[in-house]
Amino acid sequence: MKRDFDRLRDAPFDLLVVGGGIYGAWTALDATLRGLKVALVERDDWGAGTSSASSKLIHGGLRYLRGFQLGLVRKSLAERRRLVTLAPHQVRPLRFLYPMGSGFTGRRYVASGLTVYDLLAGRGQPVPGHHRISRVAAAAAYPYLDTGHLTGAFTYGDCATDDARLTCEVVDAAWRAGAVAVNRARVEELLVTGDRVVGARVKDGESDVDLEVEARLTVLTAGPWAESLVPEAARGQVRARYTKGVHLVMGPLPTDDALLLVARSDGRVFFVIPWYGRTLVGTTDTDYRGDPDRVAVEPADIDYLLTELRARCPGLGWDESSILGSFAGLRTLQSSDGVSPSAVSREWRLERPLDGLLMPVGGKLTAARADAAKIVRRGLRLLGRPDGVSPTRQRPLPWAPPAPFDRWLAEQTAASTGLGLDAETAHWAPHRFGSRLADLHALVRDDPKLARRLTPAAPFCRAEVVLAARDEMARGLEDALRRRMPATLLAKIDAATAADAAALMGGELGWGRERQAAEAARFLGSE
Ligand SMILES: Cc1cc2nc3c(=O)[nH]c(=O)nc-3n(C[C@H](O)[C@H](O)[C@H](O)COP(=O)(O)OP(=O)(O)OC[C@H]3O[C@@H](n4cnc5c(N)ncnc54)[C@H](O)[C@@H]3O)c2cc1C
Repeated sequence: MKRDFDRLRDAPFDLLVVGGGIYGAWTALDATLRGLKVALVERDDWGAGTSSASSKLIHGGLRYLRGFQLGLVRKSLAERRRLVTLAPHQVRPLRFLYPMGSGFTGRRYVASGLTVYDLLAGRGQPVPGHHRISRVAAAAAYPYLDTGHLTGAFTYGDCATDDARLTCEVVDAAWRAGAVAVNRARVEELLVTGDRVVGARVKDGESDVDLEVEARLTVLTAGPWAESLVPEAARGQVRARYTKGVHLVMGPLPTDDALLLVARSDGRVFFVIPWYGRTLVGTTDTDYRGDPDRVAVEPADIDYLLTELRARCPGLGWDESSILGSFAGLRTLQSSDGVSPSAVSREWRLERPLDGLLMPVGGKLTAARADAAKIVRRGLRLLGRPDGVSPTRQRPLPWAPPAPFDRWLAEQTAASTGLGLDAETAHWAPHRFGSRLADLHALVRDDPKLARRLTPAAPFCRAEVVLAARDEMARGLEDALRRRMPATLLAKIDAATAADAAALMGGELGWGRERQAAEAARFLGSE
């Protein structure tokens, strides 16, 4: 996909979608496939907000059963099944271990929760149902757990993804279907005529040009930033609460499975998740009332996660010096008084603060496709158009490889190794590129030096930087090295690597030497 701010001049649009996280992406795709004329604008980069700061799980949300949010869990489990079909390269099954014992959670309670989880999932799921394992077997297989307190464990299945990359692919799908999709395009204010929103004033982040973009309907999918964009008079109607979630990035786990653990201090659930050969530990859940642009990992967040992790997995021996990276994001939840952040419902709601304006509140990466279909259906009704079944229900994402997936994966991994990618990079590349892997292979065939890793500590090759700039609308190093590939989360990027990446991107985007140096310096300064 190519960035072209001037295409926004082709107004009026049927739908202007503000915010290019996962909700904006699916909304733009669904609406475009249904024949609407759609513009999607993102002030920063695709997935730059919450959609690159999640736990990266495509899951039903086992812990929501505690709050009896059965509808949400059922919907999410159905979406889990659907997303594996629509994007098997991006969404992969992951086995979880749920340990039990004194100080962990009781066996009967967990067993009934997992049974309900399996029942709600129904047939045809990409992961097996739950399974009980004995104390001895669990202690032998996961010796780093607090085995002194262990009485047994369960395994169950869910799925994992790369949230920012998934978002990028959905935006690409919308763009290919005909949507105007522009990053670095910030909505400065919504345009209001009478009591009706009629579009937005959008600033081009690259030229500073301002443009009034007219639209019959505007959808505010700006996550935690959305409330501040609602015109003052209607802002009181928005009922949202924001909580911060932090993850730590640690080295590899000695075992393949993810862990669902219960924090000793407050009984909250947190996860230990293998991801790109490293491990994510998270998350926290604390109320946040500040500026969403300033959300940051604080020492107290690190302390909480490390303390709980060390209590549950003392054998890992992880301490502060083991932290490779960290990130923080904000959940937008429905407002609720008198309950702790983790007890707030994760159900999703669609608000209409003014005529001409729709705004989702809450949601999940997992459920975004289904929720976006509802946004578009409501939009079609408001526009007086016929609705019907969402086209995104059945349509594979554009990078989805040919079936059968497992055979394709094995062939493509072998082909990648054959072209000089190291084994770990070759393992991940098919998941990241799907059918576009052919483009990566073509680049590497022409210039074998592009098969080398960009940085030794992360499984991404130099050709991926070229494709990020050429075909994935990466406009700066942060776009390429944080969201098209999460290199900055997994590795410390040094000056030589930044300079190399700037040269690779510069070749695509026409940056001269001075601009390359400036981009590298800016990136290193923001790290
Ligand atoms: C810590 C944490 C863990 C989570 N884990 C999971 C999980 O494992 N699985 C799961 O299913 N869900 C998870 N979630 C929930 C999920 O991440 C969110 O529901 C989802 O990412 C929200 O997407 P969004 O598109 O609504 O918002 P965002 O991703 O925040 O997108 C909003 C976009 O709007 C843009 N924007 C803001 N202002 C403007 C403007 N003026 N003009 C143009 N654009 C603008 C922003 O730059 C941003 O890109 C988690 C959430 C958190 C916080």
